[in-house]
Amino acid sequence: MDPEDRSRRSRLGATRDGPAPPTTSRCLHCGRGEAVRSPTGALCPGCERAIAAEVQERVWIIQESLRTLKEEPGVPGMLREWDLILAQVEALQQYEARAILTTCPPPSTLLRDFQAQRDVLARLGWA
Ligand SMILES: [Zn+2]
Repeated sequence: MDPEDRSRRSRLGATRDGPAPPTTSRCLHCGRGEAVRSPTGALCPGCERAIAAEVQERVWIIQESLRTLKEEPGVPGMLREWDLILAQVEALQQYEARAILTTCPPPSTLLRDFQAQRDVLARLGWA
């Protein structure tokens, strides 16, 4: 056997050593590295800032709409508010799908609750 060939084969068979690839440093949102641990999960600083601002704004819209709902006299107006709320929660749910924490209870739970309340109202509206 050619000695050069044998040495090449042993090199190929050797296990690669060195540090194990990091498993928690990838940003859950953009997939790049440099993620930091935070209340939202593991995000890079840029995504952390952007998502925190978006979540804050959507939560604010949800709270405002829930307040408006109580003062809204007509069912069509209330349904419009619920649709606005549901759109915000659905947008937050995309983060939940990637294990990024946004609201507590999580968006999927809120969506179920809010959808049920909207359905009750919609049925009343048709009665
Ligand atoms: Zn990121």
